Amino acid sequence: MSETAHKRRIAVCPGSFDPVTYGHLDIISRAAKIFDKVIVLVSANLEKRPAFTLTERLLLIEQVTQQYENVVIDILEEELLADYVRRVGADAIVKGLRAVSDFEYEFQMALGNKKLCPEAETMFLTAAADNMYLSSSIVKQIAALGGDISSFVPPEIQPVIATRLRRPPVPSALDPDTKKRLMQQVQQFARTIGKEGSQE
Ligand code: ADP
Repeated sequence: MSETAHKRRIAVCPGSFDPVTYGHLDIISRAAKIFDKVIVLVSANLEKRPAFTLTERLLLIEQVTQQYENVVIDILEEELLADYVRRVGADAIVKGLRAVSDFEYEFQMALGNKKLCPEAETMFLTAAADNMYLSSSIVKQIAALGGDISSFVPPEIQPVIATRLRRPPVPSALDPDTKKRLMQQVQQFARTIGKEGSQE
């Protein structure tokens, strides 16, 4: 083998990406600088009920990673991550590490994967300070109530995420007259309590 021959280093970045955020993209872009090829692996997580299907999540990531020539996206379904990593000959599983809350779970996963696939290392990249508290769940909660998600996801996928996740406003179950009557009763009650309080 010549001295210049170089084994292509492959990393797998697994996750739910439901949906992809600037936090994920930071990890993907940094991994793409270190490795020759990065496989973003959209994984089915049996413990979470996803808002987007695996294919939708893949398409969203595809839309926002086009500038990285060495990044590809794949789906992990009905297969162990360790088996996938071995099958594609990856050298590392790259994960982002946020505040303390991520640590214990990620440590367990890393140890489990090392047992099942000793040839691959799990590497952690620290989350950027700005993304420390950013998660897909936060994006989903904000979008559900019509909030501004522009600080969390790239502009090209904001509309589809916002539209999909916006919860329809719940119409009030009360007609205006009943609402008014109840309001008056509440005010009356409040006054009564106030009067009784001052008599003591
Ligand atoms: P979550 O559902 O918690 O947002 P995922 O399962 O999609 O996260 O995470 C995929 C990978 O991306 C994990 O390694 C996770 O630690 C990492 N990640 C998620 N959000 C961030 C973030 N804000 N900053 C850095 N890494 C992150």
